[in-house]
Amino acid sequence: MLGYSIQRCGKYILKTNVFPREHEQLKELREVTEKHPMGLMGVPPEEGQLLSIILKTLNAKRTLEVGVFTGYSLLTTALALSDDAKITAIDMDKSFYEIGLPFIRKAGVEHKINFIESEAHPALDKLIQEVKEDELFDFAFVDADKNNYIHYHEKLLKLVRVGGIMAYDNTLWFGTVATQEPVDPKYPDFVGILRDDVVKLNKSLASDPRIEISQLAIGDGLTICRRVY
Ligand code: SAH
Ligand code: CA
Repeated sequence: MLGYSIQRCGKYILKTNVFPREHEQLKELREVTEKHPMGLMGVPPEEGQLLSIILKTLNAKRTLEVGVFTGYSLLTTALALSDDAKITAIDMDKSFYEIGLPFIRKAGVEHKINFIESEAHPALDKLIQEVKEDELFDFAFVDADKNNYIHYHEKLLKLVRVGGIMAYDNTLWFGTVATQEPVDPKYPDFVGILRDDVVKLNKSLASDPRIEISQLAIGDGLTICRRVY
């Protein structure tokens, strides 16, 4: 699933740098999420650390998240942002978010979050209509339905400011994007079903002159895009 060194060193990194520094409520939320039948969907903590550094380096004041689930990446973001910053978080299923809400409240960061229960497309369209040119987003994290990333990207280029960051999660898709071989049957069906979409997305981002990119073998693959124009 991950790069050679990550496969070998993943546990070492977690033990040395990640777990000892993980915020108490993030740890509690991660442990609850790991027991959820769909717990695999949560962003892993070493990726959370990276997102946190990006957000702080950007001094982000307005961020967007598409795909909240129980909120590991959302709580990470809320903890990284300054008190006057705002996160617009979109997910079509609020019941997942409600699992994470007690941890978000305990961490004292709920006031930074505007949760929108909606399909992503109409919610993004509404934001495009409402957003003021001088109030574009500094950062967007996309972690929802992979077959739509390519369409979300077009919308995000209208919502994220020049110089801002769009980060797309799961772009290595269990390692399946790098091989023509049939998807290992040990993975759930959706892995094979969505592989071509993720391959298409990666190709399209790689040749998109409107962004600079860096694709990282962290978690299940994270593509960081900086809007150039
Ligand atoms: N970032 C999360 C994981 C997200 S999992 C974390 O760190 O835990 C994917 C989420 O995307 C799920 O909660 C699912 O409800 C949501 N989702 C899937 N398709 C969607 C769509 N079309 N519109 C909005 N949300 C969607
Ligand atoms: Ca993900």
